[in-house]
Amino acid sequence: MDVIRFEKLEGWRPVRPTYGVVGWPVAHTLSPPMHAAAMSALGIDADYLAFEVRPEDLRGALDILQKAGVLGLNLTVPHKALAVGLVDELSDEARQVGVANTLVFGEGGRRTGHNTDARGFGRAIREDFRIPLSELKVLILGAGGAGRAIALQAARDRAERIVIANRTEARAEALARDIAPIFLGDKLEGQAARLRAVRLDTDVLAREVDGVDLVVNATSVGMRPGDPSPLAPHLIRPHHLVYDTIYSPPRTPLLEAATEMGARGVNGLSMLLHQGALSLELWLGRSAPVEVMRRALRRAAG
Ligand code: NAP
Repeated sequence: MDVIRFEKLEGWRPVRPTYGVVGWPVAHTLSPPMHAAAMSALGIDADYLAFEVRPEDLRGALDILQKAGVLGLNLTVPHKALAVGLVDELSDEARQVGVANTLVFGEGGRRTGHNTDARGFGRAIREDFRIPLSELKVLILGAGGAGRAIALQAARDRAERIVIANRTEARAEALARDIAPIFLGDKLEGQAARLRAVRLDTDVLAREVDGVDLVVNATSVGMRPGDPSPLAPHLIRPHHLVYDTIYSPPRTPLLEAATEMGARGVNGLSMLLHQGALSLELWLGRSAPVEVMRRALRRAAG
């Protein structure tokens, strides 16, 4: 996959209508083949490119890309939170999550930030486990950008229970406070057990695991070789549905542990697919060819 670096952007001009993804690093992303397949299936003559941009250059890169006529962008690590401060307008979801993974460049240079990770996650769970979030008690490991999107979706879909566990407990607590009005409404009293924020710690989680059905890894633990499972394997129950937002590697230590303990596990490729389909729909205003995108992703993931 060709990657265009920030240093090469000055004077760069797209040859066709162009969309893309901005990250640092960006070479690992599977979005370009997925979106290229979608554009081609829709008969749209457009490019989807990968732009490698350091965080300190993000503002400049967005200005250059927008001025050059790029129509929309995805943002990946580490730009999703930064981008919130670089737009004219935020969708409700992006505002609530505090993170934008999709930018739409509209008429008159207006720049809008959206978050499609939240709904993408909801669709992934319904599809992979054939059960909606509204019927699940959810344990979310992580309270960064992905954890926030997932917690918001679980709250919006009225999950039966939400437990947020994070290494930095204060971030889990802040997230629980943010979603409480959506999840619990005005009647906070007597509802505390439905929404908990705890430290990501084996002893603490030992008290929580029997009371949840869906375990979601939204930490980055599992991406690097040698990483442990973010949840101690002996805490995984056979009735757990285990979703790891990580898709590279495809079999993470958490998913290995799930298999070992007799639980069902799925990786984050389906979330990537659905957040991408939702981004495409924002840019094009028409339905995304989800099956074409799924096949392209599977091919690219190997
Ligand atoms: P982020 O905002 O940087 O958050 C990272 C999270 O991981 C935080 O909760 C952090 O805890 C935790 N963490 C990092 N190192 C840890 C460690 N050694 N032990 C325990 N916790 C640790 O990143 P993000 O954007 O949320 O991404 C998180 C993961 O989600 C990544 O693996 C990413 O690939 C995945 N993701 C997947 C999709 C998809 O479409 N499948 C979409 C978005 C993200 P602290 O708060 O304590 O630092």
